[in-house]
Amino acid sequence: MRPTLTERLFANCEPEPNSGCWLWTGALDRHGYGKVRMRIGGRRWQQAHRVFYQLFRGPIPAGLHLDHLCRVASCANPDHLEAVTPAENHRRSMPYRRTAKRRAGLHAAADSDATIAA
Ligand SMILES: [Zn+2]
Repeated sequence: MRPTLTERLFANCEPEPNSGCWLWTGALDRHGYGKVRMRIGGRRWQQAHRVFYQLFRGPIPAGLHLDHLCRVASCANPDHLEAVTPAENHRRSMPYRRTAKRRAGLHAAADSDATIAA
């Protein structure tokens, strides 16, 4: 008997007991999002977190992106996802991008964390 979609999805998930994240252990795309081989329309691969969200929470409103509240791209826990506008998703991701740049040493002089730590 072929496994159901839900069985296939959970076979590729590893629950993380501390954060509650469902870490995707299958294939990842170049952004770190889990991907599922599943033909919908003309697309052969679907983003795992979007499939989980639709399975447990219902359809994603047209034009909305799913924001990972836990900031773990490979997490597929629908409770960690919120449907937001692309602009809101971008706005929320900015502090994290700035932190990544700081860590890379691009803004070493303006590193407020270093000031607090001193
Ligand atoms: Zn998560």
